Amino acid sequence: MLEKLKQNEKVWELYTKKEEYNPQVTDSFERFPYYVSKHRDVFEPNVSRFLVENGLKPVYPDGKKFGVCLTHDIDVVCPSRLSPFVDTVRSLYHGQFKKALKSPFSRLNKKLNPFWNFRDIMELEDKYNAKSSFYFMALYMENQDYAYEIEDLKDEISYISNNGWEVGLHGGHESYNDLEDLINKKNKLEKVIGKNVIGYRSHYLRFKTPDTWEILSKAGFKYDTTFGYNDCSGFRNGMCHPFKPFNLNTGKEIDILEIPLTIMDCTLLRDYMRLDFKKAPSGQN
Ligand SMILES: [Zn+2]
Repeated sequence: MLEKLKQNEKVWELYTKKEEYNPQVTDSFERFPYYVSKHRDVFEPNVSRFLVENGLKPVYPDGKKFGVCLTHDIDVVCPSRLSPFVDTVRSLYHGQFKKALKSPFSRLNKKLNPFWNFRDIMELEDKYNAKSSFYFMALYMENQDYAYEIEDLKDEISYISNNGWEVGLHGGHESYNDLEDLINKKNKLEKVIGKNVIGYRSHYLRFKTPDTWEILSKAGFKYDTTFGYNDCSGFRNGMCHPFKPFNLNTGKEIDILEIPLTIMDCTLLRDYMRLDFKKAPSGQN
């Protein structure tokens, strides 16, 4: 299949995302945005289509026609408006309140914290016979966007993992470009769940092509699911199937599976595509 792709220059450039190697323009988070891409046909999975036309036959369990991965990035576990209040009460109660919040089904927690909804999400997914992945951050207090201590979530994460849902790492601002940081955060999360962590997504979808794939592979991850645009939904390299990325610098495939991200909730609204709630489900203007 790789040989087939190489034979078609246009398809090969899109598949490997050649334009993202040493880009002239990136955004304030050093991301390569859709608005500078020369491949404007983002809603068409053109590389996947080319592969299918050339003999790729994806097979899905139970004869299903397609597969979809549901994922959740856990940036925060408590709304910011609640944080000062929680901190105040926590200090008043000398740690008793904190203990109560950590207890997953504590009435206090359910009442006060609408973000503590892991089990609601799991129940909802269960109705549709679906199991998703939860990507947790394993930050230290001095890291940017630190919002929770992963050790405090041990019981809830164990519950998620032991019931068959996946737990992966949501890398902080540095991880996408720092092997040491990546290994450190992976170890921190693994200590909490007592299992290997094989899945990854970057916070803010920070990504450097092809370096992030290389360091993820070196750190021992089996798959990444960051590769999508933050500023537009669609198919960043024309793929709607998982693939092994190719490194144009080394001339080799990278030993990691990319499950491409096609749609992120906040891309549809607010700062990016500015769709309303009626248009958002289709993901297109
Ligand atoms: Zn995030």
